[in-house]
Amino acid sequence: MVRRPRAAGEFELIAAFTGALPLTGPGVLLGPGDDAALLRPPRGQELVATVDAVVEGVHFDHRFTPGDIGWKALAVNLSDLAAMGARPLWALVALAVPPATPAARLRGIAAGLGACARRHRLAVVGGNVTRAARLSLTVTVIGAVGRGLALRRDRASPGELVLVSGTLGDAALGLRPDAPAALTRRQRRPTPRLALGLGLRRIASGAIDLSDGLVQDLGHLCRASGVGATLRAADLPRSRASRALAAALGDPWGAALTGGEDYELCVTVAPSRLAAARRAAGRAGVTLTLVGELTGPGGVRVIGPGGEPLVVGRGHDHLAPRR
Ligand SMILES: [Mg+2]
Repeated sequence: MVRRPRAAGEFELIAAFTGALPLTGPGVLLGPGDDAALLRPPRGQELVATVDAVVEGVHFDHRFTPGDIGWKALAVNLSDLAAMGARPLWALVALAVPPATPAARLRGIAAGLGACARRHRLAVVGGNVTRAARLSLTVTVIGAVGRGLALRRDRASPGELVLVSGTLGDAALGLRPDAPAALTRRQRRPTPRLALGLGLRRIASGAIDLSDGLVQDLGHLCRASGVGATLRAADLPRSRASRALAAALGDPWGAALTGGEDYELCVTVAPSRLAAARRAAGRAGVTLTLVGELTGPGGVRVIGPGGEPLVVGRGHDHLAPRR
């Protein structure tokens, strides 16, 4: 929970931070202010929990506004819930701030986080503020899904189709200094595909969100399910801006295949369920593109536009130096 101030200024920091957050919502019997939050899970549902941190110099740098930092810290967690087919309910936030951080910066971070929380109707039910050498924001999100309906990584089968939402490669290219605003926004303000995840329950056999790049993340799903996959590079959905930048760089497919942080969903669907999946995507207002098929075990293979096998580099590494 939000701790009592121990040193001068702590209370101001906490007040600056919590002022912009939605602190109550469905199932919140006691929010911030007691020793812990008291929460009532939706009747008959399973809880889904995840935690992720964003750290200055690793996940964001000086080009991110405070609002971008707060938005992204929550959005990356919501993306994990989307990939489970879960509805988000509550978040807990642990903030670590360097001593010289102005209160306005904390207010900005909280404003971004609060905007993302309101957009997706969840309450921030607790948190902590501590001093640290580097700014970081660790967010725990708890959601709910109907019994047995969660989208998992370990239930996909050979012969099923691989689909991805939205466009791929935007966020990785959005790190470049020469990137247009359409791509930098995708890097700094990712859109968690919650409505799509909810719509694909009972339709998809599996799902994973794309944090580390399609090849790497689909590889995780393949290993968990004991299958392999073949992807067709020419079918990868790419935005006009990313196509142009990738072509100028002489690497048409790299960002879409291995660039991280798009926070789109990669889902597997039996061929008989393809039309239903497309209808669900239409209702969620998201495009869903068929990019390949699952095979027997053997990793993720990529076929180039001329039918030739493509050699794919390593996936995205959050700890790698910024490109
Ligand atoms: Mg994930």
